Formats: sequence, C-alpha cells, structure tokens
Amino acid sequence: MSVLQIVDLHASVSGKKILNGITLAVSSGEVHAVMGPNGAGKSTLAAVLMGRPGYEVISGSVTLDGVDMLSLPAWQRAQAGLHLVMQYPSEVPGVSLDHVMEQALIERGRSTEGLDQVLESEAARIGFSSELLHRALNVDLSGGEKKRNETLQLAVLRPSIAILDELDSGLDIDALRDCASRVEALTNETGLGALVITHYNRLLEALPPDVIHVLVKGRIVATGGPELADELERSGYEAYAVDEPGPASSSALDDLFAH
Ligand code: ADP
Ligand code: MG
Repeated sequence: MSVLQIVDLHASVSGKKILNGITLAVSSGEVHAVMGPNGAGKSTLAAVLMGRPGYEVISGSVTLDGVDMLSLPAWQRAQAGLHLVMQYPSEVPGVSLDHVMEQALIERGRSTEGLDQVLESEAARIGFSSELLHRALNVDLSGGEKKRNETLQLAVLRPSIAILDELDSGLDIDALRDCASRVEALTNETGLGALVITHYNRLLEALPPDVIHVLVKGRIVATGGPELADELERSGYEAYAVDEPGPASSSALDDLFAH
C-alpha cells in the first residue's frame, strides 16, 4: 500500500507564483482526477511533483510512503515509484523504447528477464505496433501512438503512483479508450494509484475517478465524487472563479474548449 501525500504545496515558475497551497493524498488503487481550466496550474503541479528543473517549491511537502520527494532529483523520485506521463511526450532520437525500458528496470534493481515478451504482450494489449518498440522513442509517432507508448511504459514499469497529465490530449477516441482502460486495469491488477489531470469529462468516462478535485488559479476550490465532473460539464469552471484580479470568467470558459 502506497500513499502520495501533498500538503499545502506552494510553488512558482520563473518567479511567478502558480501553486497556492495544494493538499491531497492518493493511495494505491485510487484514481484522483484534478480538473481545471487552462492555465490553472495543472501541468505545473505535475512538474513540481516529478521534480522538473526550473520549478521552485516555496513551501509545503510531498511524500511517497513517508519519504520526502522534494529533496530528490526526478530520477530518484521515479525509482521510489512515482511516474509521470507528460502532456506532450518528448521525442528521443537515437534511443529505442525497448532500450529505455531495459535501463529503467535495471535502475530500479529489477530483472529484465523476459522483457521482450512482456513488451510484445503489452504492445498487443494497448494496440501499439510491436515494430515501434525498436524504433527511436516517440520520433515521428502520431499523438495516439505516443500516448499508447507512454501507457505501455506504465504497464511495464509498474510504478506505485502515476501522474497522468492530459492523457487525453492529442488522442482520438479509440486510443483514448484503450489507454484509459489500461490505466484502469492497472489500478486493479497492480494497485496503481493515479492522479489524473484533465479538463475533459470524456477521459473520466473511461477511467472513472474515486475523487475529483477542481483546481482553479493554483488552488483546489472543490473536492467531491464523480458527480462533480457532470456538474463541471454542465456549468464549466465559472462557478469556481476565484475572486481576485485575473482573466474574466468568460475567458476561463473559452479556455475549457480551446486546445
Ligand atoms: P495548466 O496545465 O492548468 O493549463 P500550467 O501549469 O501549464 O496550467 O500553467 C499555469 C500558469 O503558469 C500559466 O499562467 C502559465 O502561463 C504559467 N507558466 C507555466 N510555465 C511557465 C514558465 N516556464 N514560465 C512562466 N510562466 C509559466
Ligand atoms: Mg497543462
């Protein structure tokens, strides 16, 4: 049983305060959605949790099973069991997926025996062409192939907690369903805990959350059950607009449907 615990997290990027006190906890097997309009700080939260350089934590704590994550570099957070699926997966010329998976397992002190078969069967399961396993990571892949690839990595590495930043962005409906249902299966099969960042309800239809948090201007302004997603679908984020200078609430609503 693992717990990712975030307590009163404040953070800035390029001297601009973005996260204004985030508190939430994700346990094994749970799916927590973080929903919010563009610019709310969702990707910033993902970056800060994973230790991406350039983000400054001002105060607060992030622990995984009691271990302080904020003092560790990104690769050690990954070794500890935290995994980020980025909104826009990077292309890595010259390095193949099978090679990356082999190295990642070695770094985690895990066996690479039978890795080829695991990769083949996971590729088949997620609908990822097995030829792509041996090609440069994400290079020239479609949006859907990139996200299938990222989901495949999750299934092979079996982290304790995954942060999925807009898994649904750049995906067609079939790829979305395949990726979401693979993540959902992992929560049952390996006890994966998932922090699912999205601004669309459609991802949550395929990956039903236990808890939904609404993030607006770097603050969680509401937390509730799955019914909160339906409410947001109807009324947008306008009702949660934080009372301070900033973009007019109508633009927050426009952002919801922008891409
Ligand atoms: P979301 O993922 O919810 O759309 P982000 O976390 O990407 O929001 O961005 C939150 C805010 O932080 C936005 O106003 C964005 O312009 C700003 N921001 C993000 N990254 C940087 C950066 N590197 N430098 C300056 N501002 C940034
Ligand atoms: Mg984002």
